[in-house]
Amino acid sequence: MNPLSISFYGACREVGRAAVLVEGARNRVLLDYGMKIEPVGQPGLPLPVQGSIDGLIITHAHLDHSGASPMLYKHNETQTFITPPSIPLIDLLVQDSIKVGQLKGVKPLFFKQHLRKLMRNVVPAPYGHERKAGLWNFSLHDAGHIMGSSWINLMAGETTIAYTGDIKLEKTRLHAGAETPKSRVDVLVTESTYGDRPHPPRRELERQFFEACLEKVEDGGIVLVPSFAVGRAQEVASILIAHGFDHPIRLDGMSRKAAEIYLQYPDYVRDYGEFSDAMRHCDWVVGPRARERALEEPGVIISTAGFLQGGPAVGYALKLRERAGSAIFFVGYQPPDSPAYGLLKLKRFQTLDYDLDFSAIDVRHFDFSAHAGREELHQLIKEFRPSLCFVTHGEADQAQALAEWVKKNIGCNAIAPRMGEKFDLKKML
Ligand SMILES: [Zn+2]
Ligand SMILES: [Zn+2]
Repeated sequence: MNPLSISFYGACREVGRAAVLVEGARNRVLLDYGMKIEPVGQPGLPLPVQGSIDGLIITHAHLDHSGASPMLYKHNETQTFITPPSIPLIDLLVQDSIKVGQLKGVKPLFFKQHLRKLMRNVVPAPYGHERKAGLWNFSLHDAGHIMGSSWINLMAGETTIAYTGDIKLEKTRLHAGAETPKSRVDVLVTESTYGDRPHPPRRELERQFFEACLEKVEDGGIVLVPSFAVGRAQEVASILIAHGFDHPIRLDGMSRKAAEIYLQYPDYVRDYGEFSDAMRHCDWVVGPRARERALEEPGVIISTAGFLQGGPAVGYALKLRERAGSAIFFVGYQPPDSPAYGLLKLKRFQTLDYDLDFSAIDVRHFDFSAHAGREELHQLIKEFRPSLCFVTHGEADQAQALAEWVKKNIGCNAIAPRMGEKFDLKKML
């Protein structure tokens, strides 16, 4: 019997630094190699990969799945498989992470030359096309999370392993929702960001968000929407336009660059006509003068960074603090140690450089998650019908709650692994 094991190098009882290593007797394939962005200092890294690998498959461009991947190219040359739109998106995000590291003055984890080496070794893997990572076949399938996001179906010898990456089953403004599996799998590695929490219904949430923005802007205010560059920023603009928002919408920071990439891949957006209309309607802010102008008249400003840990959004927030009638609307996941979380909970903006009171302006959260909520995760796991389940990419409570649910309702073993744990799949299946 050929040996087969799975090891968890990151995203164990936490969100961030996803990395899963699958090893057979003659083949080793790594699924994701991400980093965990920390407010100060170095990003958190997954465990180092010893020895060579026969392929890296990256589910999507977000840095918590792709950010550490150039490190593998310091001493190795291997193929990296990603969907076509993920190629420029990873390039954009990783280059930016290098720049952010330089600004923070932290020791670089890798250089641009390692990113270039990765890019030279990229093999595009469109949805549904079979590819080979070393000896094993695999295919990528739409995960409905951001542009080009995928879940992996890996045939490790006779054993089928599915890895969700970040996944969203429900249809959103930009994506149709995850493709469901055609047949059951032996092993499922699932994310659990919202393993114990549902999301509000999307339609209602979109309307509430639109109405809140409209009310502020019609009263002469400016609404800042700090956002992830890839996915959320473009979605928020599309939601406003789809609801008939007829005031300025400004896209700044990397959100703008990511939107340019989005426009190049019509097949990877649910309704490209609606999306390109929305992007045409937006003002794309470039340079300091345009930023000043953006603060001169009422409107919505969508800008990075989503956790307010940096980027032009911080400059806008500081200015809006003194502008009566303004608001900051958060639209995504906020890690408990982020400045955004503090602003929402305490109305204080606390970073190394600032400790400011924000109680004079309206700060709110709209739960536009690009991750499956509790019921969606349950539904997905039922569709995969695994014989063994590993629950990753969720805080400890979320991961454990989902693992318990799987044991009770799917009737298979479910484990929320700890960092560095390795499991012998042949013994467990
Ligand atoms: Zn993601
Ligand atoms: Zn993630």
